[in-house]
Amino acid sequence: MSIEYKIALPVKYEVDVFVAGGGPAGVAAAVAAARNGASVFLAENGGAFGGAAVQALVPAFMQFTDGVNFIADGIGREVRDYIKENAYEEYKKYCPDSIPVELLKVCYDGMLTKAGVYFEFFTRVADTVTENGTIKYVVCAAKGNNYAVKAKTFVDCTGDGDLAALAGADFEKGDKSGEMMATTLCAIWNGIDWKSVVRPDSRRLDDAFKNKVFSNEDRHLPGIWPISRSTGGSNAGHVYDIDGTLSHSLTLGMVKGRRQLLEYRKYYKEYLSGYENAEPIISAALLGVRETRRITGDYILNINDFLSRAVFDDEIGRYAYPIDIHSGKNNKAGYDDYEKKFRELRYKPGESYGIPYRSLTVKGIKNLLTAGRCISADRSMQASVRVMPCCFITGQAAGTAAALSKDTCDVRKIDIKVLQSALKRLGAYLPNAE
Ligand SMILES: Cc1cc2nc3c(=O)[nH]c(=O)nc-3n(C[C@H](O)[C@H](O)[C@H](O)COP(=O)(O)OP(=O)(O)OC[C@H]3O[C@@H](n4cnc5c(N)ncnc54)[C@H](O)[C@@H]3O)c2cc1C
Repeated sequence: MSIEYKIALPVKYEVDVFVAGGGPAGVAAAVAAARNGASVFLAENGGAFGGAAVQALVPAFMQFTDGVNFIADGIGREVRDYIKENAYEEYKKYCPDSIPVELLKVCYDGMLTKAGVYFEFFTRVADTVTENGTIKYVVCAAKGNNYAVKAKTFVDCTGDGDLAALAGADFEKGDKSGEMMATTLCAIWNGIDWKSVVRPDSRRLDDAFKNKVFSNEDRHLPGIWPISRSTGGSNAGHVYDIDGTLSHSLTLGMVKGRRQLLEYRKYYKEYLSGYENAEPIISAALLGVRETRRITGDYILNINDFLSRAVFDDEIGRYAYPIDIHSGKNNKAGYDDYEKKFRELRYKPGESYGIPYRSLTVKGIKNLLTAGRCISADRSMQASVRVMPCCFITGQAAGTAAALSKDTCDVRKIDIKVLQSALKRLGAYLPNAE
């Protein structure tokens, strides 16, 4: 059964650039657009910026460098430096590489406020009004008042490509059969004696499997990382067969993830040294989703670009993280395939691949760009560009391009050299641009 209804919505904001989603890509996009002279509105579904690091409690940033060069330069460096300078002594001493979540939230709030970005939390992009390949309005479902936002250019940083999909963009999801990477419900633990911990956390899984500790026997256990003297952030256990774009599937994932977390509690406490007194204190508000839609752009970044260390004329950044495809199936073949690719598809220090502007422009839509996890890439490359430092790179590029396109409302009409110069002013790493 379905119903039809029509309502009139107030246009609450009228801006140059609309950004959907305030994860690393969305924060970078909004700040970059505002610094390039645009008025910007950022809609975030949750109650804080930071995306997966904050709401799904992903405990650490992956690499900002290629081992030689600082490739996530610009806004990525600003965030990393803020954390380094302001981290509490506990962090500096015990876990310099993990994310102090409360500090990250304050960092993002401050950056956006200082840049003059208008933003609202508890605001979900629910629809668009799109005519002849141009988005005119975004419809926001917000606590207390649904409303429309009028903008000249739009940037989809929802991770899932919600805005692009709502506007009618083509996309791919998962492999040929639609299978996507497994999800994880991360959590915060306390009572860990880090001095007694021996890595890897997976070393006694076979014993636990024999003793039927797990309802879901999973070889791939990333582990728990220090986030202060005796607390840790876990990225432990996979929840399989979840589609992160569907509420009923996410609901199932949360329920399963919480049940599995208690099984990991037993494993850590009874099988691994250092965790005897550990307790999971709280699991994340959102399931950690690694993969959903890849929005089809004018260029699909692909595995050959990784292998050839590609250079593009319209390069907006370079990145270097390996191909990290968590298996979508909980079996040995899936784990072995993940492990082989992660071991073999990685670079030597100083190597990186280029990301072309055309992988951010959305096929068939004039005034839309993507950034972050949902950019135009094949499945292998999504498994590299999805990590947070790269989301800063694509985010700042999309935000800058959106600002430069505000007079034409067409993201393909900008001069790439002008975009690259503006990105350099933000500090972007662009060794191949004049
Ligand atoms: C379990 C797990 C472990 C990971 N480990 C690491 C790691 O160690 N290091 C690393 O760097 N990366 C890691 N990643 C990858 C990384 O966290 C994400 O891929 C990255 O955060 C994606 O950034 P994003 O800005 O594209 O999207 P997100 O971080 O997902 O942010 C998207 C934001 O948009 C909001 N949003 C979504 N839909 C809407 C909508 N319709 N309207 C309004 N707002 C919306 C969300 O609330 C969210 O805040 C991990 C991911 C997972 C799931």
